[in-house]
Amino acid sequence: MIDFHCHIDLYPDPASVIERANREGIYVLAVTTTPKAWSGTQNLLKGCSRIKTAVGIHPELVGERHQEIDLLCSIMQETRYVGEIGIDGSPQHRSTFDLQQQIFRRVLSKSVELGGRILSIHSRYAANEVLSIIEEYPKAGIFVLHWFSGSIIELDRAIKSGCWFSVGPAMLASQRGRELFLNMPRDKVVTETDGPFAMIDKKSLMPWDVGIAFSSIAKLWNIEIDLVKKIILGNFQNLIKKQ
Ligand code: MN
Repeated sequence: MIDFHCHIDLYPDPASVIERANREGIYVLAVTTTPKAWSGTQNLLKGCSRIKTAVGIHPELVGERHQEIDLLCSIMQETRYVGEIGIDGSPQHRSTFDLQQQIFRRVLSKSVELGGRILSIHSRYAANEVLSIIEEYPKAGIFVLHWFSGSIIELDRAIKSGCWFSVGPAMLASQRGRELFLNMPRDKVVTETDGPFAMIDKKSLMPWDVGIAFSSIAKLWNIEIDLVKKIILGNFQNLIKKQ
């Protein structure tokens, strides 16, 4: 199983989540929301070869954390994975919209300088701005748009820009999410949970809940779950070898 966007350090008891994810052999991309959280998370994950830590600055925290951008850029030298980064255009984060774009550009330009990284990207209410900036930095690496919620036109633009997509149970629970998913190229999709933030029935999703996404995908693609697992695993292997 693949959970390519999970805030594993933010569960009430990260150690037990990590222990089970590791025991079940789940590949997890542990995204972080502040550069300062990276080293602690990295330490928690020692010995878990299938769980990788990404360094990030969540767009919703850019207002209070933008001073940590230098730390983020320096950690980027040590890891292939960057996230969660991106832009959030929700009304409550509009005041930092310009600053978010500056920070996002800074991260992508650092990524170009380092030869490219695998980037897990947030784009809520800001798909247009995220895509414009991505297109300015085509050599920044592999762009994985997490829980994409833009329009179909924006989705087509993302596909043309070579973006990948991570989709999870919460996204696939909505009609709109399913419609977007059905328009994504089958070879550019991996699964995620976005736990503990993303929930189903008011319960935080756990890394092993990506199984719920497999069932939804099997229905939408009209194929067996085992084949879905094979395709997603193959996609994941392609994705990580590209960078
Ligand atoms: Mn997230």
